Amino acid sequence: MTLAERMYNLGTETAFEVLAKARALEAQGRDIIHLEIGEPDFDTPKHIVDAGVRALQEGYTHYGPTPGLPELREAIARNSREVRGIDTDPGQVVVTPGAKPIMFYVILALAEPGAEVIYPNPGFPIYESMIRFSGATPVPMQLLEEKDYHPDLNDLATKITDRTRLIIINSPENPCGSALTKDELETIANLARGKNLYVMADEIYKDILYTGEHFSIAAFPEMAKQTVILDGFSKSYAMTGWRLGYGIMPEELVPHITRLAVNSVSCAASFSQRAAIAALDGPQDDVQAMAAEFAQRRRLIADGLRSIPGINCPEPEGAFYVFPSIKETGISSAEFEERALNEAGVALLSGSAFGAFGEGYVRLSYANSQENIKTALERLSGFVESLV
Ligand code: PMP
Repeated sequence: MTLAERMYNLGTETAFEVLAKARALEAQGRDIIHLEIGEPDFDTPKHIVDAGVRALQEGYTHYGPTPGLPELREAIARNSREVRGIDTDPGQVVVTPGAKPIMFYVILALAEPGAEVIYPNPGFPIYESMIRFSGATPVPMQLLEEKDYHPDLNDLATKITDRTRLIIINSPENPCGSALTKDELETIANLARGKNLYVMADEIYKDILYTGEHFSIAAFPEMAKQTVILDGFSKSYAMTGWRLGYGIMPEELVPHITRLAVNSVSCAASFSQRAAIAALDGPQDDVQAMAAEFAQRRRLIADGLRSIPGINCPEPEGAFYVFPSIKETGISSAEFEERALNEAGVALLSGSAFGAFGEGYVRLSYANSQENIKTALERLSGFVESLV
């Protein structure tokens, strides 16, 4: 069977593969602690679930308009004006099943052979996968351990060329847990402004931030014209399974992104969209409570990892990931992933799954209870001791 050439350029997200391996070990009776998967361990807040159930009963079980229900696009625009301070029109919003399709569509709409796309590395693996799939050249913006996983912006300046169509930023960042400062965002805005390129700002972890306030690059002068904001409900509201996300973009892009949606998914689930309105317009206490719990776990896991000889762990600033260096253990990231699972019963991800600059690191998601995190730390401590 002959596959299309482009299929050989498509990558993947290994979290789902490691999860499957961990589940297979559990089926054999092994006790595994899951620090591999990037989803909140909390249930969706009750008032949101109730709104979803009500929507099903009210008949929101049909196709809806491709870019989203008008009342949700309005709620998203209102929310964006409030939290980002950006003048956002509902006509700039496209709602999709999860935020991932926005990433997919924006890259497909802008990138092609001969074009270049700058993206964070280590970074969410789907960026590089999609850039390669589009035929464009991926240009990594390295996040440096010695800078607590912030990029060198002088280096970024040299990477922007006439061929650059898109610069992807992600803050707070998966897998490094770093968050760009307002000054850094301003520098990036100054580099991008007026050039024939867009910025895609993946702000999906904006509500899980431990230092300062979230700031959007689109809020700098003239930048809304060049920025696609990617956001959604999976992380902020523990709604991964509802599959709901959105992009906020310059109006000129909306018909193109909508056409890609018509060609692929038609629309996001109507009842999920009704629940999302309750998420945005309802009380935000649950969001804050989840973020506060993540903050405690961050302390526990970052301090715990640092106390293990052979592990170095920069301070995470946001999201629910730590990205410690395992270089002193002398084994590769992939071997560490395999052996931590098999020998220590801790499922985590090889840093190399997040790009070439992730070699020498592993990612642990602390979307798990403090009790489980403590046990995982004990197990990892014994495991690393056996290596160094
Ligand atoms: N961006 C980043 C950086 C992510 O980590 C994720 C989910 N792991 C997404 C986007 C997409 O999330 P979803 O499709 O569930 O909205």
